[in-house]
Amino acid sequence: MYQGTLYIVSAPSGAGKSSLISRLLETTPNYAVKVSVSHTTREKRPNEKNGIHYHYVSEQEFETLIKQNDFLEYAKVFGNYYGTSHNWITEQLSKGIDVFLDIDWQGARQIKEKVPDVKTIFIAPPSKEELERRLIARAQDSDETIQKRMLEASSEISHIFEYDYVIINDDFEIALMDLKAIIRAEKLKKNKQVQKNENLINSLIKK
Ligand code: GDP
Ligand code: ADP
Ligand code: 5GP
Repeated sequence: MYQGTLYIVSAPSGAGKSSLISRLLETTPNYAVKVSVSHTTREKRPNEKNGIHYHYVSEQEFETLIKQNDFLEYAKVFGNYYGTSHNWITEQLSKGIDVFLDIDWQGARQIKEKVPDVKTIFIAPPSKEELERRLIARAQDSDETIQKRMLEASSEISHIFEYDYVIINDDFEIALMDLKAIIRAEKLKKNKQVQKNENLINSLIKK
């Protein structure tokens, strides 16, 4: 049975991972892919919708989900809990659908332990100055939150060496092409091609 591929995308806040993932979905209507919606205890931003960007829950609700073993991984990021539920992901992958997780390096580490063939992608900004400019231009976070996220950026980026792929998001369209190139190359890997084209390959081999 053809299994979807699980991807993790991490980046310092403001590097463009949410924009890249949403443009990927908009521009590839025939690509069987879904993005996992995490649970978080952070405040909803003005432009966000419950169930689309995140499932917004209280700290108490989050801790109940931890106890129920609902999470494939969870972590505290910038003082809030964020976590990925596992049932939905397993179901999508078994249907042959690729799943993207927009999670931090702590979550990436936990998932690599549990799902060895996960593919990990790190998105880096072209400079620190540009990262700060984007966080300010996004106009979704308070000055205090932006400062906190800028302070965390270097330590997030120090985990870049743990990832399989790196995309520098300078020109957005080039970064999007890079992301699509990674997906295409993964689909062409021998194991995936053999799973997908089993009958064809068997018939070609048969004398
Ligand atoms: P943005 O993606 O930088 O705009 O900010 P978010 O508030 O969406 O995410 C905050 C941080 O939490 C980021 O570093 C994410 O990678 C991380 N994060 C988001 N979802 C998850 C998750 O399900 N699990 C873990 N471990 N981290 C997450
Ligand atoms: P993240 O999800 O990594 O926190 P976002 O996708 O929200 O980042 O991007 C942060 C801001 O930077 C957004 O306002 C987005 O429109 C902008 N942005 C993203 N990529 C680029 C780029 N290559 N050039 C200029 N601005 C960008
Ligand atoms: P934001 O608060 O800006 O939406 O996200 C901040 C950070 O949290 C981002 O780096 C994002 O990747 C991370 N994040 C979002 N959801 C999850 C999650 O479910 N698990 C983990 N580990 N990180 C997450």
